[in-house]
Amino acid sequence: MPKRGTAMPGGRSNSARPAKAWTQWHDQAACSELSSRLFYGHESESAAERATREATALAVCETCPVRTQCRKHAMNLPEMYGVWGGTTEAHRKGTRRWSRAQQYDGARRAS
Ligand code: SF4
Repeated sequence: MPKRGTAMPGGRSNSARPAKAWTQWHDQAACSELSSRLFYGHESESAAERATREATALAVCETCPVRTQCRKHAMNLPEMYGVWGGTTEAHRKGTRRWSRAQQYDGARRAS
């Protein structure tokens, strides 16, 4: 388990997760020894600060051996905040919106 205060995307609700499944892939995470502040912004963060922080976090994700598991986890839960699996909050929000639109179109065509 990562040390307290280190990057652990989703750590805020970690107690609700099956601990073993979570740690099996997160133990290998490239972010496990980094500050969570890199992956989660604060409310007063400017757009420029956010862009810089997210770009730095995404560069870490690029090197991560468990990126696929992390991204799948973030999309399935879904994780609403932070950088996960090489995606930002905005990426995942856009993907969820697109997915809902596809489901709606499919349902309309079927009726
Ligand atoms: S993909 Fe990124 S956020 Fe996920 S565990 Fe790896 S470094 Fe951390």
